[in-house]
Parts: sequence; structure tokens; C-alpha cells
Amino acid sequence: MKMKKRMKVAIVGGGPAGIGVALGLVRRGIESIALIERNDKIGGIPALYRRKPGGVPTFIRWSRGGRIVFGEDYANGLRAKLSKTDVEVWLETQVLKIVPEEMSLNVVNPSMGNTIIKADSIILACGSREKTIAERGWIMGARLPRVFFTRQIIHWIDRHSVLPLHNPVIIGSDLIAYAAAAKLRAAGSSEPIIIDNCRRPKSPFLARQYFRRWSRPSYRGIIREPIEIIGYGSESAVKLPNDEIIRCDGVVLSGELIPNSELALVGGLEVETPSRTPVVRRDYQFSRPGWFVAGNILGGFHGAEWCFFNGLKVAKSVAKYLSQS
Ligand SMILES: Cc1cc2nc3c(=O)[nH]c(=O)nc-3n(C[C@H](O)[C@H](O)[C@H](O)COP(=O)(O)OP(=O)(O)OC[C@H]3O[C@@H](n4cnc5c(N)ncnc54)[C@H](O)[C@@H]3O)c2cc1C
Repeated sequence: MKMKKRMKVAIVGGGPAGIGVALGLVRRGIESIALIERNDKIGGIPALYRRKPGGVPTFIRWSRGGRIVFGEDYANGLRAKLSKTDVEVWLETQVLKIVPEEMSLNVVNPSMGNTIIKADSIILACGSREKTIAERGWIMGARLPRVFFTRQIIHWIDRHSVLPLHNPVIIGSDLIAYAAAAKLRAAGSSEPIIIDNCRRPKSPFLARQYFRRWSRPSYRGIIREPIEIIGYGSESAVKLPNDEIIRCDGVVLSGELIPNSELALVGGLEVETPSRTPVVRRDYQFSRPGWFVAGNILGGFHGAEWCFFNGLKVAKSVAKYLSQS
């Protein structure tokens, strides 16, 4: 039999947005809050960016004195604030399914197994992810074993000190792509080549300048599509529309973020297709009362700090809803 748990509020995702919602609710005197996170610690994407000797300090925000705040330090700061509250943090807990009409979540974790959590209000703060090859729609290639997302590159290099690619090509040219190039190069790869389907890189000029200390990737803006990923493992290559072949030992798919809204979509909450953006009202609530969203799941690229403050705002809407229901 499945275990059952009753909470006032359940938050899915322990990134800056989820933590912002939790802290905002605590400030408003709400008790019995569960923050559910599938990883072994909270902090979301910023927690991946480790401060390490020789590593690339990828920024999360400039503090008031013009100092860069590192991802891991930023995540630790949020974690410290949360530890002073009574919020229940459920780590290594994956939300498998939501049941909107029952206000419940089906979760699984190693110690409790399958559990149903019911709550008066549920907030989805699951973040965003990079588009797959199929979702980009301009890249051909068979099932390839050495295609990574940027978050995996950060995870391997910053968390495990493993260099997954020695001769990388990066597809995508926004800020995250240049951060990935810097991380790869600083960890010992050859200078990455960045490819995108636009004339100029999407990353802001200043961000590119920031990362030049570590990496000066060459940029190939292709106008005609598609490109093709060919070969296998260390013998991989990217074939451009003019038949030029760029040899590599794997590809990084960077940028082009898409909301992580699968739970909402499968659960029957309103989600736009193909953008996957949740359809919510001005107070961040779905048309089904009690269901809210916060942070990068709302679509677009938002920095960690924006997501945290958005979480605080969503907490205000949730508190209002709870007081009226
Ligand atoms: C690769 C990459 C690099 C980025 N680099 C930067 C940067 O350098 N600076 C910056 O300001 N912004 C960066 N961003 C944007 C960044 O995502 C946001 O700034 C911020 O982390 C978003 O906060 P969030 O809480 O909405 O989502 P996230 O930080 O993504 O947190 C969402 C959390 O939800 C959890 N989760 C998702 N689904 C489930 C589930 N079903 N069950 C349980 N838990 C779940 C995830 O494990 C994750 O911890 C980057 C984004 C990506 C994808």
C-alpha cells in the first residue's frame, strides 16, 4: 500500500524559485510546507556551479559591491536561509505524476518508496531544460552516444572533475554556450567551435568578453539548414550545409531552453504547445484553483535571482489563495 502524507503546501523543485516560494510562505506565517527535490541537495542549476581552483567562475549575479557571486555560494546561501525554517525538505524524491483533481502528487524516494502527497496548494517550480535535437528541428543525425546538454557538462566538470569531451563542438550560441566553452577549455579540451543557425552569436557581447579569459571559440553562423551530426564517439563530426566537415569527439547542445512542464502537461493542466509554456493567470495560477507555477518553468531565460524573487511573488499569490479557500 502507498504511504500517504497531508501537507498545507507542496512545492515541486528545490531550485531558486522553489526555495523563494517556500521562504515567502514562511514569511507569511504558513506552516506545513514540503519542498520536493529529486537531487541529493537543493539549489537547482546554481548548485551545479562549483567554486574550484582553476575552474571557471560562472556568475549568478553581481553583488552590490560589483563582486561576482558564484553558483555554489549562491545556492548555499539559499540553503542556509531555508534551514532556519520548519519547511520539510524531501531530497532524492522524484515527483512522478500529478493528479490535479485530487490535489495530489505521486512521489518516489529511496527510503519511503512510493508516496502520495496531498496538499491544499501545489506549486510547480521544475525549471527548464535545453531542447533536444528533435525539438530544435534543424539538426539531423542518428541516435548518438556523445551528445550532451550543458548542464551535464557542468555536472561532470565542476562536480566530478571529469572532462567528457576533448574536442568539442557546441550547438547553440547564447550565454550558456559560452559558459560551457569556457568550462571545457579550462578543464583541458581543445578550443571549442560554436555553431548556431544565426549570423551572429546570441550571447550578449559583454558575456562573451567575460568568458574570453578562458576560451575564444570560433563561431560558425549557418544561414542554410540543416546540419548533420555524423560518425560515432571520438570519430564524430558535424557536417554543415556547404558539405564542410568539422571533426569532433562529441557535441554539446546548449541554450534554447524549454520549460520543464511535462508533469503539468501529462497531468492535464493547460500547457501551450510546442513552446511548453504553462498557461497561467496573472497571479501565476493555472485555471485549476490551487495549482501555481514559479521560476524558469514560466518560459524564457531568467537568471537565478529573478527566479528567486519570482518565487517570493508567487508565495504572495499562494497565501492569498489559501486565505480565501
Ligand atoms: C545549463 C544551464 C545553465 C544556466 N546557467 C545560469 C547561470 O550561470 N546564471 C544564471 O543566473 N542562470 C543560469 N541558468 C538559468 C537557471 O536555470 C535559472 O537561473 C535558475 O536556476 C532557475 O531556477 P528554477 O528554480 O526555476 O529552476 P532550477 O534551478 O532548474 O531548479 C528546478 C529544480 O526542480 C527539480 N525538479 C524538476 N523536476 C522535478 C521532479 N519531477 N521531481 C522533483 N524535482 C524536480 C530539479 O532537480 C531542480 O533542482 C542556466 C540554465 C541552464 C539550463
